[in-house]
Amino acid sequence: MTAPYLEITDLTKRFGPVLAVDGVSLTLDRGSVLALLGPSGCGKTTTLRLLAGFEEADRGRIRVDGEDVTNRTPVDRRFGMVFQNYALFPHLDVAGNVAFGLESKREHPRAEIARRVGQALAAVELSGFERRRVGELSGGQQQRVALARALAPEPRVLLLDEPLSNLDPVLRERTRIELGQLVRRIGITTVLVTHEQEDAFDLGDRVAVLRGGRLEQLGTPEALYDRPATPFVAGFVGRASELSGTVVSTDGNGTAIVRVEDVEWRLDSRPGLVAGSEVVVSVRPEALGLAPGSSAGAACLSGKVVNRRFRGSWTLLTIRTTGGATVEVECGRAGATPGDSVGLLPNSSRGLHVFPKQRPAEDPS
Ligand code: ATP
Repeated sequence: MTAPYLEITDLTKRFGPVLAVDGVSLTLDRGSVLALLGPSGCGKTTTLRLLAGFEEADRGRIRVDGEDVTNRTPVDRRFGMVFQNYALFPHLDVAGNVAFGLESKREHPRAEIARRVGQALAAVELSGFERRRVGELSGGQQQRVALARALAPEPRVLLLDEPLSNLDPVLRERTRIELGQLVRRIGITTVLVTHEQEDAFDLGDRVAVLRGGRLEQLGTPEALYDRPATPFVAGFVGRASELSGTVVSTDGNGTAIVRVEDVEWRLDSRPGLVAGSEVVVSVRPEALGLAPGSSAGAACLSGKVVNRRFRGSWTLLTIRTTGGATVEVECGRAGATPGDSVGLLPNSSRGLHVFPKQRPAEDPS
């Protein structure tokens, strides 16, 4: 087994009372792409800045290719960073911007700088743009200049802070695809920050979901979607509604009978759940189907449609169950309309995840 290329161990950073990054450990293989995903304030940017060396860690280590860089300056780490606002110099042309990092290090002769600038601009498909002013470029082209500037010194790791957030939705979609192709073509180990699931899924080989500074789950997009570790991940990565339930029995082979309101479902369970455990059943919209009129039975949860949203190839229904819970269900065009009474049946156990119910923290007062 090859050793990981980038290794982060117990990375921790506090700003006064705020624990911005709380004991994050993860590894990355050479050439792979990691997306740091999470809601505002979860510590994504601070993690990236700790990697870049712009913030000093209170605790923890960062290793690249077996070398400990925790106490190295940003320049000595040889990481390339693209900032959210690109931070281009408006008074310099494209070539001047891309050459900036190389010239300021005074390490390379002119011809070598010119060669690297040409190579970096070719990589981002901006050959011929050398003498253009950055103010004359589109948002997507400016981003590619910022990428070329980060790539020109041939960094060991590329760090991208919200690389798509400055782009309108159409350009964002196209740039996301191009960016994914580019980092894979170059084969550079990349860590990027985003709060958008689509960015993380399209760009990341693996995704680290952060919450309150902690690493909630690390996995491939498929693993996060199919096997979320917590209700938070289930709700943040894809849509999910929550139903309260009680375990009736478990078979010791990974399945449990769970009572939800007045119905019983056989669901994939997880270790530690025993008969009588209170649970949260997280429900993906595709996990429940509308029951045909004649199929009322032990497994059919009843409710009333309260909202219907047409989405083209599918329709999202919001259903208020008889027990007062709200659940979102995907259905075809015919489906049902607001006011209809409906029954809900599991399509399979896929998309239904059982979690132990978290008790509210005790009030210390
Ligand atoms: P966003 O998506 O909004 O950029 P984020 O996930 O990147 O959020 P961070 O910017 O890393 O989150 O911030 C994590 C926490 O640390 C937040 O509570 C933030 O207010 C706090 N924080 C970040 N930088 C500083 C700072 N320089 N001084 C004080 N608190 C800070």
